[in-house]
Amino acid sequence: MAQVELLGEVTKFVEGSPQMMIGGRRTGAASGKTFEAVDPSSGKAFAEVPRGEVADVDAAVAAAREAFEDRRWTGLRPGKRAEILFKLGELIKGHGAELAQIEALDSGKPVKIASGEMWAAGDVFRYYSGWPTKIYGETMPSDDSLFVYSLREPAGVCGGIIPWNFPLVMAAHKVAPALAFGNTMVLKPAEQTPLTALRLAELSLEAGVPEGVVNVVTGFGEEAGQALARHHDVDKIAFTGSTEVGRKILHESEGNLKRVSLELGGKSPNIVFSDADLRRAAKGSMLGVFMNSGQVCTAGTRILVESSIHDDFVSSLVDATGTMKLGPALSDETGMGPVVSSEQLQRVTGYIEIGKSEGAELVTGGNRAQELGDGYFVEPTVFTGVNNEMIIAQEEIFGPVAAVMEVADVDEAIAVANDSIYGLAAAVWTTDLSKAHRVARGINAGTVWVNTAGLYDPAVSYGGYKQSGFGRELGKHSMETYTQTKSVWVSLK
Ligand code: ADP
Repeated sequence: MAQVELLGEVTKFVEGSPQMMIGGRRTGAASGKTFEAVDPSSGKAFAEVPRGEVADVDAAVAAAREAFEDRRWTGLRPGKRAEILFKLGELIKGHGAELAQIEALDSGKPVKIASGEMWAAGDVFRYYSGWPTKIYGETMPSDDSLFVYSLREPAGVCGGIIPWNFPLVMAAHKVAPALAFGNTMVLKPAEQTPLTALRLAELSLEAGVPEGVVNVVTGFGEEAGQALARHHDVDKIAFTGSTEVGRKILHESEGNLKRVSLELGGKSPNIVFSDADLRRAAKGSMLGVFMNSGQVCTAGTRILVESSIHDDFVSSLVDATGTMKLGPALSDETGMGPVVSSEQLQRVTGYIEIGKSEGAELVTGGNRAQELGDGYFVEPTVFTGVNNEMIIAQEEIFGPVAAVMEVADVDEAIAVANDSIYGLAAAVWTTDLSKAHRVARGINAGTVWVNTAGLYDPAVSYGGYKQSGFGRELGKHSMETYTQTKSVWVSLK
């Protein structure tokens, strides 16, 4: 396969020992420790990254606190903050090719897809650049002796802890709204994919974000992540990751009762009714589960198909799956890259074995793609004959594995869809308008797609029901996540 040549900036960045950003200064870990960034396409290390621990988190939180209290960011004219955030979005887009290559190396996602994500990350900043000028308080009803109003103020120092599946996009989902609503931030990217967050911190300074407003500490979850979640001078934690770690974050953050928002896992139903446009539904369902090698919280991994079309649909789904070209991230021809790490490879192939032992029928895939060498490649895999009690129907696999189940009608589809601890997203494929809306209303999930799957937009709120988390990100609802209100009583006597 044709390998994309690395840009000079990328080589310089990865070979120049990437540094954390604390108080506007590029810095290594206080301990001097580092860890390896590994390319999932080859299984080889390609960079050394600072291994931040408690001392580094302390320094970053102190920098963010100072920047918050002296109001170097919060106190700027809203139009100025808007201008800087817009510029940061444009800088991300301008550096899109370089960032996409770094992301592809670090996460294993195909470089073409990474390019689209870099654009999307820039777009999140562009969207949020509209917000600093639109944050209003309210005037409350009162008698003539009083004037009562509210101020909408930032939450304070925010910690962002993010996963490895969409590294820069996730960083943007945290940093852009936090900054738009006047907060300062310490970001802890995932240890598997720390690099683009470090470039984001550098670009934020270039855009004019004052020093200390965006700090990035790289390191492990049990070290840097835990230190941030526990920190008594952090006012709010915004976390995206697994439900298991979300639960830990809740415990870790209890010391100072900081505010927490959690975007957690999912096991999303993708429902195909007999009146759907079958080919479109098959292609959409395939992309909905295999996009990003299935490492998507909202992936439609439980494919519920009306019995009367089951066999036809499965055959279309298998055909569509055959078009997904597995290969290294730095090839222009790749549609699906490796999974992110050797741990993830073990986890996903382990679930495939569980599926087989539970009696599900493997209709395509099911193996590590050995022919691609030492990279962490897993074939796109489809199981049929699954029932909703099976482990592969209940647990989040976070890899390219689809579980197809038969349902008799709308009522059974809704019941099975909701029979899960998760409630992040769902997709429904039908040409019957009433059915589409009925299902959308019946499903307990934060997002429902009709005749499409996997769409996002910074203007559209995102978040989970049930154990998929709480709090909403993006759109106008992120204002509640990143601000607090103060009521002011003034006597007019
Ligand atoms: P995944 O399970 O998909 O690898 P995780 O939910 O484990 O993702 O990790 C998401 C983020 O949470 C990462 O940045 C990771 O370092 C961090 N993390 C993991 N464990 C903890 C913890 N105990 N406290 C705080 N952060 C953590």
